[in-house]
Amino acid sequence: MRTTQYLVATLKETPSDAVLTSHQLMLRAGLIRKLAAAAGLYSWLPTGLKVLRKVEGIVREEMERAGAQEILMPMVQPADLWEESGRWAQFGPELLRIKDRHDREFCLGPTHEEVVTAIIRDEIRSYKQLPANFFQIQTKFRDETRPRFGVMRAREFLMKDAYSFHVDEQSLEETYQRMYQAYCNIFDRLGLEYRAVLADTGAIGGNASHEFHVLADSGEDAIAFSDASDYAANVEKAEAAAPTIQRPAATRELTKEATPNCESVEQLTQHFNCDAQQILKTLLVEGATEEHPLVAICLRGDHQLNEIKAEKHPLIKAPLTLASEQQITSIAASKAGYIGPVNLNLAIIVDRDAAVMADFICGANATGEHYNGANWERDATISEVYDLRNVVEGDNAPDGKGKLTIKRGIEVGHIFQLGTKYSEAMNANVLNEQGKAVTLAMGCYGVGVSRIVAAAIEQNHDDYGIIWPDAIAPFTVAIVPMNMHRSHRVQEAAEQLYASLSEQGIEVIFDDRKERPGVMFADMELMGVPHRIVISDKGIDQGTFEYKSRRTNEKVDVAMADAVDFLN
Ligand code: ATP
Ligand code: MG
Ligand code: MG
Ligand code: MG
Repeated sequence: MRTTQYLVATLKETPSDAVLTSHQLMLRAGLIRKLAAAAGLYSWLPTGLKVLRKVEGIVREEMERAGAQEILMPMVQPADLWEESGRWAQFGPELLRIKDRHDREFCLGPTHEEVVTAIIRDEIRSYKQLPANFFQIQTKFRDETRPRFGVMRAREFLMKDAYSFHVDEQSLEETYQRMYQAYCNIFDRLGLEYRAVLADTGAIGGNASHEFHVLADSGEDAIAFSDASDYAANVEKAEAAAPTIQRPAATRELTKEATPNCESVEQLTQHFNCDAQQILKTLLVEGATEEHPLVAICLRGDHQLNEIKAEKHPLIKAPLTLASEQQITSIAASKAGYIGPVNLNLAIIVDRDAAVMADFICGANATGEHYNGANWERDATISEVYDLRNVVEGDNAPDGKGKLTIKRGIEVGHIFQLGTKYSEAMNANVLNEQGKAVTLAMGCYGVGVSRIVAAAIEQNHDDYGIIWPDAIAPFTVAIVPMNMHRSHRVQEAAEQLYASLSEQGIEVIFDDRKERPGVMFADMELMGVPHRIVISDKGIDQGTFEYKSRRTNEKVDVAMADAVDFLN
């Protein structure tokens, strides 16, 4: 690909509404663009789509290797099917419901259990056709309460979803194991650091479930694993397994105060004793209601309200606005270093010393009171405070072996043994070996294909931009010629190398723009191309190109004649 014939679409400035690094870099590197003012709707530009297709390719290959067959189901689904499963009434506002011209009800598919069950109950009649496993890679729509972080939590996103069908539970378990292994293969091939953890089967129902998490400090989820056994679960599951966990002793006493009704920023900053350097932030907490919407405050003494900008901090989860007076009515914290899980809709944190992140005031709009002095040492307790969970680092593992380590994760995959939940409700039966009708056992298996792109960036970036794992890089090699438009030799060498590499099937981006070297270097680094070749007159004099690895920054001169072999 020549950059002169390609939408590079890089941005110098970091867009102000993007908080998360991956979101910022996806915009800056020209991977995605938000669609006008619509939250959670993104277009994939050429570079982004190349990466997305690579992820998709790996997922598809591993699904086929695991014996799943690809299908494609409609994204628009009739309400009738959802009535059959009972989910038309159960599913909340995440389900986008629409009507056609005949006033018939439909929804945009957030998932496809109903549709696939309706297909299979007609197509599969005998145990001889089982087990069977079908997958699709398709757009899903979920009207998320808070779409955020770009494609990480979008409303429209790409998912691989697979559904397996079985004559009995044992067969389901076998396929589940095979899919578990396929997921490990996928994340191994993607080159990501991940953990598979036990998960709650929750509303979907069923017997067993695992989530796959890419580890990242910015992850919205927390996972707990034992330092002495194989126990690994998401914190909800760990909590359910060990409801009476004893918290380590508080590191210091908290003091309790009545929270003032502050009418202005000045009053607030005065009350919380913030000077111009001190920051007041809100910590957004799950569980907001319409009555108590999530809001965020970020104040600096020298800022006017209308100038308040999002702090670059992973704890701030939404565009920042000022909380209303009522919203700042009270503050609650249970123990030192930990804000309790008490119906927190709004929590305020005052950073008394931005450098060490300790000695915060934390709070919520629950009780008219607040606590002072929670010790919020950056590395030790940030995730606990953020999660408001009952499980913390150092707790005994629920299996009785070892202590829990807690890490943050991004949920990129989720597999379930559904059992007969859908097949029973929707009358999906087969004849077994004895000729008797039995209800199909079912499994379902999701991968967040588009979320993986963002998760990969969370794990692979530096100050200059993205560092793609080779398996999903949009291009493998960048050719950056110096002064090509003045040097015929450079141009010739660059064209030749471009042709030879392309012939070998290597994906090359050839920067043939009339740009300064600095601009070209910056763009290729931002886009994360793993291997860069610089071609210059000086190099040609010595018979070499300069190679640089994006990941290690290592530079070596490579003989011109050996360049293709070197990169192959
Ligand atoms: P989350 O807990 O992040 O809301 P989920 O548990 O609701 O995800 P599942 O129903 O398990 O999601 O869907 C399978 C996969 O789809 C998830 O593991 C995740 O990778 C991806 N996914 C879910 N919601 C979104 C979204 N809004 N944007 C992008 N990917 C998503
Ligand atoms: Mg969800
Ligand atoms: Mg989840
Ligand atoms: Mg899930």
